[in-house]
Amino acid sequence: MNKYDYHIHGTFSSDSTAAYGDLIQKAINENYKQIAFTDHFDFLPSEALEYGVPSYTEYVKHIENLQTKFKSSMSILLGVEIGEFHRVTPYTDRLFKIRKPDLTIGSIHVLTDGFNVSVPFNEIMTKNQVLDYYNENLALCEQSPINILGHLGIHKRYYTQTPDESYVDSLIDKILETLIKREIALEINYSPFRKTYNSFLPEIPVLKRYLNKGGKLVTIGSDSHSVENFDDNYNHTAKILSDCGCKELAIISPNGWTTTPLSCF
Ligand SMILES: [Zn+2]
Ligand SMILES: [Zn+2]
Repeated sequence: MNKYDYHIHGTFSSDSTAAYGDLIQKAINENYKQIAFTDHFDFLPSEALEYGVPSYTEYVKHIENLQTKFKSSMSILLGVEIGEFHRVTPYTDRLFKIRKPDLTIGSIHVLTDGFNVSVPFNEIMTKNQVLDYYNENLALCEQSPINILGHLGIHKRYYTQTPDESYVDSLIDKILETLIKREIALEINYSPFRKTYNSFLPEIPVLKRYLNKGGKLVTIGSDSHSVENFDDNYNHTAKILSDCGCKELAIISPNGWTTTPLSCF
């Protein structure tokens, strides 16, 4: 049994209801080998004002205590999910100085004009918005010392069908090539399954392009904000990954990435 989830929110994230102890107990019961808590640190004013920024010092202390307490039963990583990393480096520099996290997810939640792509919105995004979204993801991957690119394509989570975004194919290829060159892992985020989009993100064609280009670093993220949602589509996701030819998961250590065979259940 070999399950890994590298994207989990506990209550240090203002939008999560999941108690850490309950998440860890469920991870033990469901045969996880390692999990990463990746609470939100969003420093852009528009996000910070809406969601707040937790105390990183308190967060580190809390996770380190859990690491000690569950040492014999669960490997727990101190992770962070940082929104728009490339635009907030004065703050991330200070955060990294306090203690470098074991794992850093870089994510795009808002466009350059402040439009939030990670919450439900009325119409599908315009071509200019979609271009802005992927350009921001490219800048993030080119400029930031992140380990994982989080939820590429998250704006589609509340869509009910796959939109035609073929006009960003070459931009997505550039993102994938940057990930490979900079050894940033591609996250397969299965939160869309519990919204209205019947796929993980990024979708199978993007995953296949990444693998075809020689990409080897794939992680699975539940992006869960409740205990109930943690693990809810893991087996389903792992099975699809395996069917797509992705046979290994990326595992992080202080020395960098290694891989382990992907287990299906
Ligand atoms: Zn996110
Ligand atoms: Zn998240």
